[in-house]
Amino acid sequence: MTKTVNHVVKRPGRRHGDPQTAIPVAEELVTVPGSPVIDGDVSYYSREDPIESQTVEKSADREWGWTVYIKEVYDYRKKHDEVSEPLIEAAWVSGDIKPTAEPDPEHDVTTDIRDKARELGFGEVGYTRYDRRYTYASKKSWVKFNHAICLALEQDYSQTQSIPSLEAEFAHFGTYEIAGALALDLAEHIRSLGYHAQVHSPNDNSGAFIPLFVEAGLGQLGANGQLLSPHFGSRARLMLITTDAPVVHDEPVDYGINKFCEECQVCVVRCPARALLREKVWYRGVKKNKLVYDRCRPVMVTYEGCAVCMKVCPIQRYGMKPVMEHYIETSEILGKGTPNLEGYELRGKGYFGPGELPHFKGKDFEFPHGTKEEWLFEEFKKKVEENGGTPNAEAVEFANELSRMVKAGVSRTDE
Ligand code: SF4
Ligand code: SF4
Repeated sequence: MTKTVNHVVKRPGRRHGDPQTAIPVAEELVTVPGSPVIDGDVSYYSREDPIESQTVEKSADREWGWTVYIKEVYDYRKKHDEVSEPLIEAAWVSGDIKPTAEPDPEHDVTTDIRDKARELGFGEVGYTRYDRRYTYASKKSWVKFNHAICLALEQDYSQTQSIPSLEAEFAHFGTYEIAGALALDLAEHIRSLGYHAQVHSPNDNSGAFIPLFVEAGLGQLGANGQLLSPHFGSRARLMLITTDAPVVHDEPVDYGINKFCEECQVCVVRCPARALLREKVWYRGVKKNKLVYDRCRPVMVTYEGCAVCMKVCPIQRYGMKPVMEHYIETSEILGKGTPNLEGYELRGKGYFGPGELPHFKGKDFEFPHGTKEEWLFEEFKKKVEENGGTPNAEAVEFANELSRMVKAGVSRTDE
């Protein structure tokens, strides 16, 4: 029986110039616009235990990743880092560049910047207050302006469906490279309107971006921990520009995703590492599905970025409108239980259709925790224990490596 529609969300078309799209939301899926949040708790955790970048807090496992990648991934990631470096450097100082014109108070900058961003190719564009509670501790003093422009660039559809694969990693990191360059162009444009623009490089995140995208009405948080955006679900690569341009903020939207994910659960049951939790919990003031990092990370590093949770999401695969219309008409989740949506292959382990999951051994989930310095020290300790003493050469190598890390300080390259 057809379900009752509570409201219809109207969004701009997928590409600039496309007609508007209308997404119906079933009555039984209605919860709240955006995410369920306890505002005081978000403030409390951000004050008492601010979030930090993986680059800083978990640098040991990032370093370890380089020792696990297959050669093709290793080479590609090195190349990506080289390509990204100048983009990161340009973004890092972008907030200091002066506007190139006087602002015109009569000009509609909200529409102007949105149109320009869409012309450049960003599929989702929205505005919100820049909420510093989601900024990494090490970046708090870097962010200069109070308005956030949320920008999502779609990654290639067919490459994404080959997840997990090297091909899909080209799409993943390649999209970040393009987004980083396009945002520098958009920042120039904002300066030509008389305002500052600070680019938050997608290769050097300044904090958690998803809560800002949700506040800007560009989607809702899926059970896979990703932003489910209207046109391309989690096949969206996210970045920000902060600015002093007086843009009018958008509002969060209820697309029905908070409840829909409770019904769907495809990512939860298909995750090869069993890393996604079925039940939502309150975490740092937000109600969400938690990901078990220690189960996800080794599988992600070993199998070309994994991302099965992205591949098997119907909103990613078919788009939100067809999925929501199908749900209203049939009460079913489009594609659920089919090999087309749920099937995937893991290198060396074979193909897994609906209901089938790979097996791993306990040792497959072992990896170093903490910072690079802590990992280096643990490795050094192991050598001392194994050798019953420290050969001079190894002690010197340890000291040199430690000194290199201290000099390098906090890396600014993020995933
Ligand atoms: S990346 Fe892979 S292992 Fe990690 S949560 Fe997604 S499906 Fe699971
Ligand atoms: S696969 Fe289903 S449960 Fe998972 S994020 Fe997508 S819609 Fe939500």
